[in-house]
Amino acid sequence: MKAVNLKPFEELCFDNRFVKCLPADPNLENRRRQVSNACYSWVHPTPVRAPSLVCWSREMLAELGLNEADSQSNEFLQIFAGNLLLEGMQPHAMCYGGHQFGHWAGQLGDGRAILLGDIKNEKEQYWSLQLKGAGPTPYSRSADGLAVLRSSLREFLCSEAMYHLGVPTTRALSLVLTGESVVRDMFYDGNPQHEPGAIVCRVAPNFIRFGNFQILTAQGDVDTLKQLVNFTIETEFPDLGSPSKEVYAEWFKRVCQLTADMVVEWMRVGFVHGVMNTDNMSILGLTIDYGPYGWLENFDPDWTPNTTDAQGKRYRFGTQPQIAQWNLLQLAEAIYPLIEDVKPLEQALQFYADYYQQSAQTMYAKKLGFKQSNSQTEKLSSALNQLLQTVETDMTLFYRGLSQLSMDQKEIDNEGRLRQVFDKSWYQPDQIDVAYLNQLRDWLHQYQSALRTNGIDEQYRVQHMNNVNPKYVLRNYLAQLAIDQVEQGDNALLHELLEVFRNPYDEQPEKERYAERRPEWARHRAGCSMLSCSS
Ligand code: AMP
Ligand code: MG
Repeated sequence: MKAVNLKPFEELCFDNRFVKCLPADPNLENRRRQVSNACYSWVHPTPVRAPSLVCWSREMLAELGLNEADSQSNEFLQIFAGNLLLEGMQPHAMCYGGHQFGHWAGQLGDGRAILLGDIKNEKEQYWSLQLKGAGPTPYSRSADGLAVLRSSLREFLCSEAMYHLGVPTTRALSLVLTGESVVRDMFYDGNPQHEPGAIVCRVAPNFIRFGNFQILTAQGDVDTLKQLVNFTIETEFPDLGSPSKEVYAEWFKRVCQLTADMVVEWMRVGFVHGVMNTDNMSILGLTIDYGPYGWLENFDPDWTPNTTDAQGKRYRFGTQPQIAQWNLLQLAEAIYPLIEDVKPLEQALQFYADYYQQSAQTMYAKKLGFKQSNSQTEKLSSALNQLLQTVETDMTLFYRGLSQLSMDQKEIDNEGRLRQVFDKSWYQPDQIDVAYLNQLRDWLHQYQSALRTNGIDEQYRVQHMNNVNPKYVLRNYLAQLAIDQVEQGDNALLHELLEVFRNPYDEQPEKERYAERRPEWARHRAGCSMLSCSS
C-alpha cells in the first residue's frame, strides 16, 4: 500500500513513539506465528471493497485537529477503512498475552487490530489510532481478523457514551462499513451467518495492556520487559522520575490507583465489562475492548451479559472490583523480575483494596447527594443495595427518581407520590406490595434523617445527585435497535443516540423515550440482555 500526502491530513503530525522506542518483530510476513523478543509486528490493513462511513465522533476529530467536513471526504473514508495510508503512518500489531477466565492463555496479541501510528496534536497530546477489524495479523491465530457491524457499532457508541459519562475509556473516531460480509456463528450453535463487516477506528494515548508485560515475562525476556516498562513510565508517568526499582514499584501503585478509579466509575453508572481478561486491562486504567459488555438494568450484582461466562459468572457486575485486583496481581507477577522484592507489590495490592473501598464509599455517598462518606452514609448505601434487589428495580431510573422526590415527610408518606416517582423503575409492578412500600419508606426515613444530620439541603442534593447519576445510559436494547436500523441502511437512530449520550446527565425532556426501562420484548432477545463473545 502506497502512503500518500493529502490535505487536510498532511497537517497531522505523526510521532510513532511506540514503534520508535520498542523492538519490532523482524519477520515481515503476515502469517500467524509465535513472536518473541518484540513488542509488535509490522502489518498492513487489508483493503476492503466498498467502504461507507456510518458514524464519526466530532469531539475526537477535534482532538486530532480535524473537523466534521474533513470526515466527510472520500480520503477520510479510505484511510479509516484501511484502504489508504498517510505518510507518517507505520501500521503494526501489538504482541501481548493474557489470562483468559483465570487461565494463562499464552500469546494473544492484536489479532484484528492494526495500529496506524501516534498523532501528536496541537496540545502536544499523543493519540494512537487503531483500526479494529482491518484484517489478519500474525496474532490472528485461527480467526479472520475481521469484525461485524453489531460489535463495531456497540464499541463505537459505548466508548463515546462512556467518555461523556466521565468514565475513563478508549475512544472511537469512526465507524465504517466495509461493504464485505463476514461469517459468524453468533450463538456458537453451528449456524454461521453472513453479517456486514465493519471497522472502528479506536483512539487512546496508548493501547498497552497488562498482557503486553505478561507475555515478555512469560518468554523470560526481561530486557524487552524493562524497555516496555521504561517506555510506559517515560511517556505516561513522567512525574515518577527516571526508572529505578523504587520507581517501578511506585508506578505499579499508580496503575492500581487508576484501575480502581475506573472500576469505581463502572459501578457508579452500572457498566459490566463482561470480559475482564488481563489482555483487556489497559495500563492507563481505561475501559478497553468493548465486547459482550452490558448495562445494568434491574439492579443485580450477579448479572453478566456475557453468555460465554454464564456458568461461572466470573465477570459479573458485583465482582468487578475483586477481578481487577486479581488482574493487578498478575501484572505484579509480570513486573516482579524488575523489582525482585514482593513487599512493595503486596503493599500496592493492599493499597488497591483500601483505596477502592474508600473511593467506592465516597461514590455511593455522592450518588445519594452527600458530600462524603461516613458510617451513616455507608449504612444507608448498604441498605439501599438490599432494597434495590428486593424487587426488580432499574438502578439508573431509581436514582433519578430519588432526586425528584422531595425529602419532606408528607411526600415520603404519600403512597401515590412514591408510586409516581418510582413506578418507572420497577420492572414488575405486581411485586410492589404494602410490605415492599413499607421497606422503601423506612429506608427513605433513614435517608431523610441522614441528610439532616449531614446538613444537606434540597437544592444541593438534587443538583449534585443529577451530576453523578446519569439519566441516559446505553441501555442494551437501544444499541440493538440502532444495529437493526443500520443493517437496514438507516443510520438515523445511531446518530440520534450519539447525540443524546453527549449530555447524559441533562434532562433532555424531548428524549425521554431513551431513558425508559428495558421493554419486556428485550428481556430475552439476543443482543439486548445476553451477548456471546462472537464478534
Ligand atoms: P477479545 O476476547 O475480543 O479481547 O480477544 C481475545 C484475543 O482474540 C485477542 O488476541 C484478539 O485479537 C483475538 N481475536 C478476537 N477476535 C478475532 C478475530 N475475529 N480475528 C482475529 N483475532 C481475533
Ligand atoms: Mg481483547
